[in-house]
Amino acid sequence: MDSSNASEVQKTKIETSGELDKIMYGYTSEVNVMEEENRILRETVTNLKNELNKFQTLPYLICEIKDIIRGKAVLSLKNGNEFLVEISTNIKKESLRPGDFVTVHQKNLVVMDKIDISARFNVEQFVIIDKPETLWSDIGGLKDEINEVQEVIELPLKKPELFRKVGISPPKGVLLYGSPGTGKTLIAKAVAASTNSTFIEVVGSELVQKFIGEGAKLIKELFDLARSKAPSIIFIDELDALASQRVDIGTSGEREVQRTFMQLLAEIDGFDYLGDVKVIGATNRKDILDPAIVRPGRLDRLIHIPAPNQEGANDIFKIHTKRMRLDKVDVKKVISKMDGMTGAEIRAVCTEAGYFAIRKNKTSVTTQDFLDAVEKVKAIEEKNEEYLHMFG
Ligand code: ATP
Repeated sequence: MDSSNASEVQKTKIETSGELDKIMYGYTSEVNVMEEENRILRETVTNLKNELNKFQTLPYLICEIKDIIRGKAVLSLKNGNEFLVEISTNIKKESLRPGDFVTVHQKNLVVMDKIDISARFNVEQFVIIDKPETLWSDIGGLKDEINEVQEVIELPLKKPELFRKVGISPPKGVLLYGSPGTGKTLIAKAVAASTNSTFIEVVGSELVQKFIGEGAKLIKELFDLARSKAPSIIFIDELDALASQRVDIGTSGEREVQRTFMQLLAEIDGFDYLGDVKVIGATNRKDILDPAIVRPGRLDRLIHIPAPNQEGANDIFKIHTKRMRLDKVDVKKVISKMDGMTGAEIRAVCTEAGYFAIRKNKTSVTTQDFLDAVEKVKAIEEKNEEYLHMFG
C-alpha cells in the first residue's frame, strides 16, 4: 500500500468511528428521554392508584362517646341509638372521656381516632352576627307594635333598675308573628341598634336541615356566644321549623328536631329575666307552634305584625322613596293601587319604578312608572302564589 492509500484508509476509519459515536450518542440520549418518560408515567399510575384507593375507602362515622365501660366505648349515634364497641389499639383508652368526639369504622363501629371538637364546630360560622344601624324611623307604620317591643325588650335592657324597683319581671323574649315581608326582622334589628346590642340571627329551617345531629349543640353554643357578646338579641327567624307541634315523634329526624327544641327551652329557662340577652322569635305560622315555647317565662309576649293599612303604606312609601328623585308623583293614587301590599312589596314597587325610569333614559320617576311597577310586582306575586299552590 502506498502512502496515499494508507492515509485514505485512515481517513475513512476516523469518519466511520465519528459517525458511530454520533449514532451511539443518539441512542443513549433517546434511552434517557424514554427512561424519564417511563418514570413520569409510573409516578402518574401510582398517584392515580392512590386516588382510586381514596374513592374506595369507606368514610368514617363521627360519634360522641357516652361512657367507657370495661375498656369498651358506649357510642351514641346521631339517630339516638347506642352501641357498646371496641376501641382501636392506636388510641390510648385512658385519653377518652364521655363527651369526646371520635371517628368510628362504618362496618363494626370500632373507635378509630379522637377528633378535636373545636376544630370541627364553630358556631360563629353558622349565624349572622351584626351591629345593625336600623333606626326606629326606618320602619313605616306599626306604631303600637313598636311601642310594645320597646316596652318589653328595649326598656329592660336600658333600665333594668326600674323593673327591680317596681318588683316585676319583664318577659325574656317576644314572638313576632305575621305574613312574610311585614317588617319582623326590621323591628328586631331596630331594637338591637337602639340598645347597642349584638344582633345574632339564626334561621330555624336552616338549623334543622343543615345541622342534623348538631342542632341541640348549636343552640347551646348560640346562647354561650350571646352571653359572651352581651348585651345581645338572639333573633330566631322561622321559629316554627324548630318549635312546631308534632303529633307523633316517629322518625329520627323528628326526634332530632325535638332535642333541638328542648335545648332551646332549657336555654331560655336558664337565663335571667333581667339579664342582657333577649330572644326574639319570628314566624308566619303561629297556628302550628308548640305551646311550650309561649308558656309564661318563655316567649310569652306575642305581637302580631300586620300588613300595613293606608297610613302605614304611606309611611313605608315615604321611607323607601326618601332618596329617589320624584317627578310630581300622585302619591295618593299610587298608594290606593298598593292596597294589601306588605312593606317588602312596597319597597319592591319603589325599586321597580326606578328601573322603569332608567329604562326610559330618565333621571326622575313619574306616577306612571310607579303604576307600571305596581302591576309588575303584583304579577310576580301572583306567579309565586300559583307556584306555592301547585307545590304546597
Ligand atoms: P320574613 O317573614 O320573610 O322574614 P319579615 O317580616 O322579617 O319577613 P323584613 O325582612 O323585616 O320582613 O322585611 C323585608 C324588607 O321589607 C325590609 O328590609 C324593608 O326594606 C321592607 N319593609 C318591610 N316592612 C317594612 C316597614 N314596616 N317599614 C319599612 N320597610 C319595611
